Amino acid sequence: IRLYLDAPLAADGVVDLAREQAHYLFVVMRQAVGARLLVFNGTDGEWLAEVAEAGKRGGQLRLVEQTRPQDRPPDLWLMFAPVKKARTDFIAEKACEMGCRRIVPVFTRHTNSERVNVDRLRAHAVEAAEQCGILTVPEVAEPVALDRLLADWDANRRILFCDESGAGRPAREVLLEAGPGAWAVLTGPEGGFAPEEAARLRALPCAHAASLGPRILRADTAAVAALALWQASIGD
Ligand code: SAM
Repeated sequence: IRLYLDAPLAADGVVDLAREQAHYLFVVMRQAVGARLLVFNGTDGEWLAEVAEAGKRGGQLRLVEQTRPQDRPPDLWLMFAPVKKARTDFIAEKACEMGCRRIVPVFTRHTNSERVNVDRLRAHAVEAAEQCGILTVPEVAEPVALDRLLADWDANRRILFCDESGAGRPAREVLLEAGPGAWAVLTGPEGGFAPEEAARLRALPCAHAASLGPRILRADTAAVAALALWQASIGD
């Protein structure tokens, strides 16, 4: 069992469990006093912990020893146009598994979803981080309009603009040529990018239009494919 805790972790520390975590650990997973598990909080590495107190509404963990020091995820963001709820959840979960540091829902002209439940996406990111063994939970940013995002853009971060029109070069070639550094993958909605959005992105020196192949992928598939290509070309 691996649990994300919103508390400082240090030698000889004792951590109180929130009600939902106590429920998960003692009711769902049937753990009891003396059981051992791994915990992390995104800043203090990973720790072996032992259950010191177990109740239905709370409990306490005693930290035994640090098992891994804190590391930093690659400097990779995913910026994606939200789609239907379940598919947006899937994108947040996979972005976490694929090692993104930040996840940004972006409203584009053809985005159908008008609202994004950021807390829900954060909960999915926490669950994915617990499951996949990483030491940080990616930050889930508040949704932002594409125009606004680009107006404030830091040109030092390159954008892998996933362009379904086929005008871009293969993503792997683009990534290998541009090389390491801060990156953001950008994927569009089911309706694709509007022509003026695509034109604006193509005109940005830090944005690299890229193709993910001759097939039009669903938005959630495109996000995972682009992140996998980034990891294979640049990441670790
Ligand atoms: N309605 C659009 C069309 O038919 O041309 C398809 C949009 S696609 C379902 C959603 C997003 O996935 C696109 O905006 C793009 O970012 C990404 N995408 C899908 N297939 C792609 C490909 N072959 N190359 C690059 N990006 C792709």
